[in-house]
Amino acid sequence: MTLRSTFHNENSAEGRVYLPTTGNLEPARIEWDTTGRIERIIRLDTRANDLSIILPGFIDEHVHGAQGHDVMEATIESWEAISYGLAKHGVTGFLATTISALASELQEVMECARNYPRHPQSNWLGLHWEGPYIDPAFKGAQPAEAVRPVDLREIETLLSGRTDDMVPVRLMTLAPNLPLSGKLTQWLTARGIHVNLGHTGAGQEETMAAVKNGADGITHLFNGMVGLHHRQPGIVGTALTEDSLWLELITDGIHIHPEVVRLVFHAAASRVILVTDGISATDCLPGQHKLGKWFVNVDENSARLEDGTLAGSVLTPDQSVRNLLRWGIPMRQIVHSWCEAPALRFGLTGLGRIERGYFADLVELDSEYRVLRTFKRGQTIASP
Ligand SMILES: [Zn+2]
Repeated sequence: MTLRSTFHNENSAEGRVYLPTTGNLEPARIEWDTTGRIERIIRLDTRANDLSIILPGFIDEHVHGAQGHDVMEATIESWEAISYGLAKHGVTGFLATTISALASELQEVMECARNYPRHPQSNWLGLHWEGPYIDPAFKGAQPAEAVRPVDLREIETLLSGRTDDMVPVRLMTLAPNLPLSGKLTQWLTARGIHVNLGHTGAGQEETMAAVKNGADGITHLFNGMVGLHHRQPGIVGTALTEDSLWLELITDGIHIHPEVVRLVFHAAASRVILVTDGISATDCLPGQHKLGKWFVNVDENSARLEDGTLAGSVLTPDQSVRNLLRWGIPMRQIVHSWCEAPALRFGLTGLGRIERGYFADLVELDSEYRVLRTFKRGQTIASP
């Protein structure tokens, strides 16, 4: 019996390619070497309008699941299903995102991360811990029984010695208005773990204090926090004007009104990091689905708890691109926020751009921006 490679061997792709130099789609052929690094981009003289569109692959720093599976299942099989489910939507990099859970459950996630197979064509980039140290008053769909005060000893036990390449925890979401959150922020950032502020009732002063302690991002801006008020800028107003903060946005048209999405791009386009906050129900039929071990009700466009609270989303990055183009956001800003911004934030060398020397992490789309094929380091990892 001969083993067939899962990946097709290719060394070029042709289409209307998003080029960072022009910020536009241009007919071109991308060629890469055997390691998947882009060697050449050759502009094509063609008027052909049947060419597919090629963008850099999407990087999602906040996603809980896909294809009926949740990161909290903490098994290799479930994570591989999620990885493939995301690849079908053009994702060439993602952070497996947890929700607030017992220490033993988070330990299982760490264990899974330690054993998760590494290979060049994997789109798994590490972990994003969303909670458990968040503000109970702004917990959203996070389970109340697992939300708790900052526990420095617990986090040390869970993470200590395990923040190297073997278990890359790259990001943690915490509430900066909790006691000891400043210490926790310093402890994490000293170990190279980025800190997002979220699920919090924090105001301007607490937000700025967290920035001084090293926090550099906001989890799903506007959702799970106090809104913007002209006499009380709060965390949102501070986030919009504080240049050191990356801003996660969920662009399903439900979490944030399209007009407010446009406002954020007007104010801070270079700092937007687009995310899905997608859950297991993505690409599944409407009905009851899981977030962690809790059930949520899912319809065509949203996922909610019994009381109507939004519980993550069923958004995909390609749907986000379609929405943003319809709302008038320029292509340059969309590609920056889905691809280059997260790569810059996490220091992911060689990711996020279609340029010589970068990896051929690409998504090929039809003229309606539906995914045809996803490449990781030059090899096809999904062709839905
Ligand atoms: Zn989330």
